Amino acid sequence: MIFSSRQSSADADVVADIETPFTLHQPALQVVPVVVDVPHAGRRYPRGFVDRSRLSLRSLRRSEDAFVDRLFAQTVALGAPLLAAEFPRAFLDVNREPYELDPRMFDGRLPAFANTRSMRVAGGLGTIPRIVGDAHEIYSGRIPVEEGLTRIDTLYRPYHAALRSLILRTQGSFGTCILIDAHSMPSSGLDRDGAAKADLVLGDRFGTSAGGFITEHYGTPASGVHALQLEFSRALYMDETTLTPHAGFAALERVIGAAMAECFARWSGWLDEWREAAE
Ligand SMILES: [Zn+2]
Repeated sequence: MIFSSRQSSADADVVADIETPFTLHQPALQVVPVVVDVPHAGRRYPRGFVDRSRLSLRSLRRSEDAFVDRLFAQTVALGAPLLAAEFPRAFLDVNREPYELDPRMFDGRLPAFANTRSMRVAGGLGTIPRIVGDAHEIYSGRIPVEEGLTRIDTLYRPYHAALRSLILRTQGSFGTCILIDAHSMPSSGLDRDGAAKADLVLGDRFGTSAGGFITEHYGTPASGVHALQLEFSRALYMDETTLTPHAGFAALERVIGAAMAECFARWSGWLDEWREAAE
């Protein structure tokens, strides 16, 4: 299949080779004990992946937390580093254990240490997802196991190495680190309790939000690392059919900026008080 014959030119800039696993936006000086990470907004869809998928690019993009990196970009000016994945979540999901893999998806044997029995694997949403959205199968055939493992080595590991090092550096400088793990969610459907979905869902490691390896793994309050997952409804800022930001984008951006500025000021204040008390 020839890519250019099927996709519109507007889609062309999102289909490209992944040159780098992530973009790290560093403030001139990190002035707050905060790290922001955006694991699901990556929009560099490898051409071979799109060509081989049963789904159109637009369907694949339904699992993208589209533009969340842009919504949170302002936190860099507020003094916090921001790490954003470049690869799409449909290709590889860093908000999973490194090897939550479904053996039925692969040609060849998975390593013995792979976690093939997690709920997330059963639901089609392992480290290499089988589905997007409401059970739309991504692949028509099996993936060579080496290819799956290469995705983990070349994308998953560098992303987590960068995140870990940001957290450790922040903890080293400030004595504590607050990780903000930023996401968005489709507006349609009901939550597990049957209620209409909220505009914003907050999750910590005991939260009920779907997924959550990042907050589970890095959030260790006893050792001074606090992780908070924020999930905004996509209807607030984008047209979920055309995948373009709408008029609400700027308003949400302002709300996020104001909320983050206030949180950062409070956290820095508490940190100062705590330091004074410790002296
Ligand atoms: Zn997400």
